[in-house]
Amino acid sequence: MSSLLKLSIKLRGHHLICLHFFKGEGYNPEFVKNLREILKRVEAGEELEVCSGADDVCKTCPYLKGKLCLYDKDAEAEIRAMDKRAMGLLRLKIMDRVNWQEIRERIPEAFHVWSEEYCKECEWRRVCEKTGMYRKMKGLVHRSSKTYPKRCMK
Ligand code: SF4
Repeated sequence: MSSLLKLSIKLRGHHLICLHFFKGEGYNPEFVKNLREILKRVEAGEELEVCSGADDVCKTCPYLKGKLCLYDKDAEAEIRAMDKRAMGLLRLKIMDRVNWQEIRERIPEAFHVWSEEYCKECEWRRVCEKTGMYRKMKGLVHRSSKTYPKRCMK
């Protein structure tokens, strides 16, 4: 048996969307370093697995206690609901194996709902807004909202 077998990267639902807008900022240097390494691998084409709960990003997060996100008192339940929403928008389910490019191609169709439901209130929005990807998505939202009025969106 080869000892070179690498474990696949595991990412939870909302990270499958939010990491496309990473701008090099995070909770601390270790967290940012880990994020950069994950992105480097998936952007190079390494397949990832969709997981439930704490993932390879969470593992260096100062808010992870055991397997729970304790960002604030309701975080664990709220983040799980967010993961579920993200997976629905990306048409993915737990244990799906997928590559980053495939997910990236689904971001435009997910973004208008995601930005309305989550980005508006997110404390990281100002950072995401600095990325070309976020600005591009915002441009698409403005164009498409002329065709699809908000009331048609769930
Ligand atoms: S533990 Fe919570 S705050 Fe930390 S990366 Fe995971 S989901 Fe985000």
